[in-house]
Amino acid sequence: MSFEQLGLSTDILRAISDQGYTNPTPIQEQAIPAILEGKDVMGGAQTGTGKTAGFTLPLLRRLEFHANTSMSPARHPVRALILVPTRELALQVYESVKSYGKYLPLRSTVIYGGVNIDKQIDAVRAGVEILVATPGRLLDHIQQKTLVLSKVEILVLDEADRMLDMGFMPDIKQIIQLMPVQRQNLMFSATFSTEIKKLANTLLKQPVLIEVAKQNSVSDLVTHVVYRVEPAQKQALLVHLIKQKNLKQVLIFNRTKHGADRLAKQLSLHGITNAAIHGDKNQLQRTQALDEFKQGLTQVLVATDVAARGLDIDELSHVINFELPNNPEDYVHRIGRTGRAGSKGFAISLVSKEENASLQGIEQLIKIKLKIEESSGFTPNTQNQTKEKSNVRKKTESSNTDHARKNGARAKPRGDVVRFNGTNGKDKARSSRKPEDPLFTQPYVSEKMHADAALKEPAKLDGSFARGKNSRQNKQVAALFTPPVADKRKQGEQ
Ligand code: AMP
Repeated sequence: MSFEQLGLSTDILRAISDQGYTNPTPIQEQAIPAILEGKDVMGGAQTGTGKTAGFTLPLLRRLEFHANTSMSPARHPVRALILVPTRELALQVYESVKSYGKYLPLRSTVIYGGVNIDKQIDAVRAGVEILVATPGRLLDHIQQKTLVLSKVEILVLDEADRMLDMGFMPDIKQIIQLMPVQRQNLMFSATFSTEIKKLANTLLKQPVLIEVAKQNSVSDLVTHVVYRVEPAQKQALLVHLIKQKNLKQVLIFNRTKHGADRLAKQLSLHGITNAAIHGDKNQLQRTQALDEFKQGLTQVLVATDVAARGLDIDELSHVINFELPNNPEDYVHRIGRTGRAGSKGFAISLVSKEENASLQGIEQLIKIKLKIEESSGFTPNTQNQTKEKSNVRKKTESSNTDHARKNGARAKPRGDVVRFNGTNGKDKARSSRKPEDPLFTQPYVSEKMHADAALKEPAKLDGSFARGKNSRQNKQVAALFTPPVADKRKQGEQ
């Protein structure tokens, strides 16, 4: 199927072509016609499936009908509201809205917390048809009477599971009360809990159900590799792997904010340009870190699970789990940053004995036995750690990360193998510390959804995201939404 067959306008098709997309992804094939017909949609989709374009393209098409070029703000009320859980996702979705709508006379803006509200007030007051927002900041604007939602025609809840995890349910309920009852609702979620089912039940009217990848499935394009290593050896092995494999752009996951900062410092000492991204960083720092990483100015982005959720980085070849996540589902989300839209990816995990249970949990969840590899050329050295550390520091003092970043330079590899190992009481204590990221400690939605109890008259639609030429096209996957028996009978599917 081609984009031309989906009922989009020539201006939108031109913008799609500018993006270099040749064919719609499965979620786009399914969601676009349904949304264009004005139906409510419940989409079971993770990032990396093309879901943003899946809802943005038809949304633009529907709003395009009454678009106008009037200068008056009153002629540009908020007609589509896209709610997202995080600032990063807000910015990404906003970028998509701008790119896909660049030939249309529709105005859009983005509002999120953690930054001064004044500029946002100016943007909103000027009049916008499409508003991308995080729930808390949206309510701040409403309280300040800088915007109203009485003309909203389309509501999108993106990463609804994450929004509930982050405690946005009361805000969402409040926001829904402020919109006209007559509107189109689109909800996307990677996982389905009882809470999500409840929300879907109250929000959606006879939704079309769309599923594009089996829950907790991982892309065929990702190669998983495990390196067995003592906790105290992890840093040295990580540095070795980055240098040996000459990794140019790698996202590294750490469980805690402090751990991420500590690791970032150590990598700098080894001449590896990097930035850390987590809940303690302000918006400016996070945006800057992400931008620099995307532009290739920094080699490594060290992130916690919460901060990395929803990050869309083109052609990210490697994700490294410096520590395995406590929750196996977070492994799926972490490695979902690689192997996207047709590109191959590598998910490397540094696993200590203490993490055996986590490893087992991940293997059970994704139904893949992760391959264990030996790192060639890496020799754990349990002696002279202090001496080695100070040698490394001396060696790398001249490599000022900020300087390298300012000049857009990549860090030069310094030596083949850097060894500084050895067991150390402090490291042991650290590794047994509990995660400190407050959001991280919240449970991640994991229950499988049985929509028969939750949703009425689901249309059975399934299919997987065919990622380019090499993908296994049209692979059928188990449906997230199990249609009720009665409906199955109606559809003659017994
Ligand atoms: P998303 O799942 O919305 O986060 O999108 C994941 C990535 O897929 C983004 O980098 C999009 O630019 C890209 N993408 C979306 N639709 C297509 C398409 N039809 N063909 C190729 N890439 C796409």
